[in-house]
Amino acid sequence: MELWDILDSERNKTGRTIVRGEELKEGEYHLVVHIWILNDKNEYLVQKRAQHLKLMPGIWAATGGSAVAGEYDSKVAAIREAKEELGIDLDTNNMTRLMSIRRKDNHADVWLVRENIDLQDISLQAEEVSEAKWVSKEELESMISSGIFHDYGAEYFDNIFRVMKSCLSCEIVKGNTETMGGTILNTKYFHAHQDFAYPIPGLVILASKRHIYSIDEMYEEEAAEYMEVLRKIRAAQRKVLGIDYVYYFYNEDTTHHFHTWMMPRYSWMNQFGRSVESVRSVLLYSKENMKNEENISKVINAAERLYSELNKK
Ligand SMILES: [Zn+2]
Repeated sequence: MELWDILDSERNKTGRTIVRGEELKEGEYHLVVHIWILNDKNEYLVQKRAQHLKLMPGIWAATGGSAVAGEYDSKVAAIREAKEELGIDLDTNNMTRLMSIRRKDNHADVWLVRENIDLQDISLQAEEVSEAKWVSKEELESMISSGIFHDYGAEYFDNIFRVMKSCLSCEIVKGNTETMGGTILNTKYFHAHQDFAYPIPGLVILASKRHIYSIDEMYEEEAAEYMEVLRKIRAAQRKVLGIDYVYYFYNEDTTHHFHTWMMPRYSWMNQFGRSVESVRSVLLYSKENMKNEENISKVINAAERLYSELNKK
């Protein structure tokens, strides 16, 4: 007998439970998880529901199911469901909660897992799943439009497709894309490099290695290392490049991979005023007027000096 915790509309536990299969009353919810596994080829692992199921037989869908009583952390539920339905261990370091939505009788947490899984390593739970396969964006779109894939709604699918686009920061931290002056520092959780859109010497981008969106997604250990690395880079900027002032920022609305900009302040920037308002003008100026050979070599030299300082034994 499987028990579920009954939650209220705000996702609080009511203290009551219900047996799986029984109907929830109006205003009662349970916690469910959806798991979308994305591989390096930008394909999703999807599964076909068994023919004999009462609910949506033979329909393709994401992996997932209901959290059981006591399992308030949906990540735990996601790991268990993937194990039960597909027989695989999710890479817990590469799980991001994409969205949380309230549906008719459930609160659904949608997890994105970046992981390459060999189809041969999958063992399907025959009672619930009849098939699993990797699908590209085009295949998934055509399955959705032909009605053989469960319709999670347009907004939901927008989020699912959004993450399929390749991510520049992911490419950089994996070393697939070169940056001006190369890597400045490569630690367990972070990667630092010169920003190449804006050729300002010593303008360092500190990116997380995991594809996360926001600072509050960092684990304790990552957050601790973040502060340590930020301070180290700042000290190096001061020591080897003589940088007296630095502006720090990161934004969450136009970028999809966490990175902090560490922008040095130079005296030539005074013509654009001071403080935050000057930043936009400074960046535009550098982009339009500083991409000359002489300045680029200064930028590369600064990146190399930071590298030497930060990586000396
Ligand atoms: Zn990324």
